[in-house]
Amino acid sequence: MSHIHTAIAQLLDTPASKARLLVVDDQRIHIQVMHQIFAGQYQIFMATNGEQALALCRHNPPDLVLLDIVMPGMDGFEVCAALKADAATRDIPVIFITGHTDAAQETRGLEVGAVDFISKPLTPAVLRARVKTQLTLKLQADLLRKLVFLDGLTGVFNRRYFDQQLAIEVARCARAQSALAVIMVDVDYFKRFNDRYGHQAGDDCLRQVASSLKSSLRRPADLVARYGGEEFACILPETPFDMAMEIARELENQVRLKAIAHSDSDAAPVVTISLGVAGRTGTAPASATDLLALADAQLYKAKHAGRARVCGDRLT
Ligand code: GH3
Ligand code: MG
Ligand code: MG
Repeated sequence: MSHIHTAIAQLLDTPASKARLLVVDDQRIHIQVMHQIFAGQYQIFMATNGEQALALCRHNPPDLVLLDIVMPGMDGFEVCAALKADAATRDIPVIFITGHTDAAQETRGLEVGAVDFISKPLTPAVLRARVKTQLTLKLQADLLRKLVFLDGLTGVFNRRYFDQQLAIEVARCARAQSALAVIMVDVDYFKRFNDRYGHQAGDDCLRQVASSLKSSLRRPADLVARYGGEEFACILPETPFDMAMEIARELENQVRLKAIAHSDSDAAPVVTISLGVAGRTGTAPASATDLLALADAQLYKAKHAGRARVCGDRLT
């Protein structure tokens, strides 16, 4: 019953001191000044050009970007527009830091999606206060976004979040030509479990299965969501098919090791799961729909082969 509360506590547990600040400026001396102003308060990351900043935001998203406008190559306006055009980076707030006060520039900066616009010379106390305000808003927004995306029963992510993240990961993997795997999970003979032990015990069982799946996936980018009633789904970015199969077997094993009695199951005397794995290699084009359909077909195969097992295939 307290699982959703545990999840919220974990979310609230992100201290502001761990907030991540990305400073983008082609002149290292300016980055050093920022470093001094925020020393010890936040984690500071730096980029000296627009392309580098975008790559960093995609792979290692900061909580706030302090963005110089005039840079060789992509300028700050272009970087900000690119961040706002990508669902994966859209929610990262951007503050422009500029050498001169110019109403037209400020207007343009706000139009491309910046939350604030600060002119040099910088007053450290003012800069700190404005950054703190934006970071507080960002962390609160993250919290709300996550709550909207959590499953109320199990505390893992819900279907809506899963669909959104899968779209993001499919696009990311296509861009990076990297591997991606999806695992569909379904509890075996769960109707009989409810009939035998009651709906309340069924709910407890789902919580235990969810928590087992969550703790068995160790990489921070891996994700587990409740996909439907007694179905769960995992996204494993940058995971080759063979590794995904191994992980799926480990998930199956860990749920079995929970040893939740299920005397009416034909698969085992304890609660088991069946899993369908779909993998995509770096070059095969694949949509979210393709991956899900394949994972679902493999899950169906696992069910028909006797349940409590893993089936999988690669997209070709
Ligand atoms: P199979 O091994 O083929 O997957 O059989 P199954 O009985 O698990 O599958 P079926 O789809 O026939 O039944 C799923 C059951 O899951 C039926 C439904 O009552 C139960 N269920 C779905 N959501 C919940 C929930 O939130 N709580 C509980 N307690 N039961 C749920
Ligand atoms: Mg089912
Ligand atoms: Mg089932």
